[in-house]
Amino acid sequence: MGTVYGRLQPMSNPSDQPISPPPEDRARRAQELLRACVHCGFCNATCPTYTLTGDEREGPRGRLYLMKDLLAGNAGGADLEPLSHCLSCRSCETTCPAGVHYSEILDTVRERTQEQRPRGQRVLDHLSMVALSARRPLAAIMGGARRLRPFAPKALRQRVLPSTRGLEWPAVRHARRVGLLVGCVQPALRPDLDIKAALVLDHLDISAQQVGPSCCGALPYHLHAHDDGRSTARATLTLAEAGDWEGLTSTASGCTAFLKDYPRLFQDTDAAGRAQAFAATVTDIAAWIDPARLPRVPEQQQRRIAWHAPCSLQHALKEAGRVEAILQALGHTLVPVADGALCCGSAGPYSVRHPRLATALGRRKWQALTGADPEMVVTANIGCQQHLARHGDRPVHHWLDLVYDALTNRDRVARD
Ligand code: SF4
Ligand code: SF4
Repeated sequence: MGTVYGRLQPMSNPSDQPISPPPEDRARRAQELLRACVHCGFCNATCPTYTLTGDEREGPRGRLYLMKDLLAGNAGGADLEPLSHCLSCRSCETTCPAGVHYSEILDTVRERTQEQRPRGQRVLDHLSMVALSARRPLAAIMGGARRLRPFAPKALRQRVLPSTRGLEWPAVRHARRVGLLVGCVQPALRPDLDIKAALVLDHLDISAQQVGPSCCGALPYHLHAHDDGRSTARATLTLAEAGDWEGLTSTASGCTAFLKDYPRLFQDTDAAGRAQAFAATVTDIAAWIDPARLPRVPEQQQRRIAWHAPCSLQHALKEAGRVEAILQALGHTLVPVADGALCCGSAGPYSVRHPRLATALGRRKWQALTGADPEMVVTANIGCQQHLARHGDRPVHHWLDLVYDALTNRDRVARD
């Protein structure tokens, strides 16, 4: 039945219902989805791993051929590394003219081939999941590191992120209400961000109510613990349904995208209808912020910004332009960025599992982001922020930091 991760401690799945359709049904569905592919290869041009390596096996078309053979049982002893190297960024889905549901096929195949993966990889995935979902120890470690922040060199300060000192979650006082998912990893790495988001929304006459802490399920799911991911998602679904608000959001676009994907996660189960109704209320947090109601910052605080749209935002949620409009409403200038569709290499736990590839992708992305010499890079997901900061000679921020700064008349660059 799976384990629920991301709370204070793991707990067993509260449901006695099957958490997914039988594997054979999922395999049949994946084979049907595969038939949509006409093997044109357009998707290769926007695949981060293909454009990095030039290797057909490391692109979506090659992976789809491999998955077709695996599902048909014709790939005994095949090298599964190209599937492991896939970032699940879904850039290929955005590009594909035939509408191939690549990520659903990949998830099914990964689940079926889990036992064929090298034992070392499976152990690493399990250890990563246990470490990242242990919220209290992670929060304690990050809290200790933050106390040393004033003494750290500037480069390290980019990684040892702010505390919640002086920040307080505003009281619920508005008629409009939104649920804000307090997830698993982000509160440890950026404990201030959800509070800042709640303060920004409060300024716009919307009360944010905390949901959680509760993992959306993405962490175990993307570490190949698919049943644990479904159990965790199911617990979060139940928690979210108990709330009284217009909709649900999160400050991490990766979590929002996974919440929005619950209908796919629970299709053909007893929770399918609930997941559909729930997902209809999930939106990226930028959708709650009206740019027309934001102040323009003083000229000396207006920055030249390179915007990095996380894959979860642009390829999974299919959101484009909202955050850019918010940043421009504040008075900032967005510089052109080449190859904006390509992943930075963070991709959740990918940078732990494939550090060499993740570093190469991160370096390439950093060059693209800084080509027009911006003062800072701005993104929408904690994973991208942490990963990019590792490559950087200039700050990387969450866009909500800049909105909060504008409302509180702070100058972000001056404080870095
Ligand atoms: S997934 Fe889409 S773009 Fe890629 S080869 Fe198949 S049909 Fe073409
Ligand atoms: S999900 Fe991303 S990395 Fe994987 S095949 Fe598609 S474009 Fe390439």
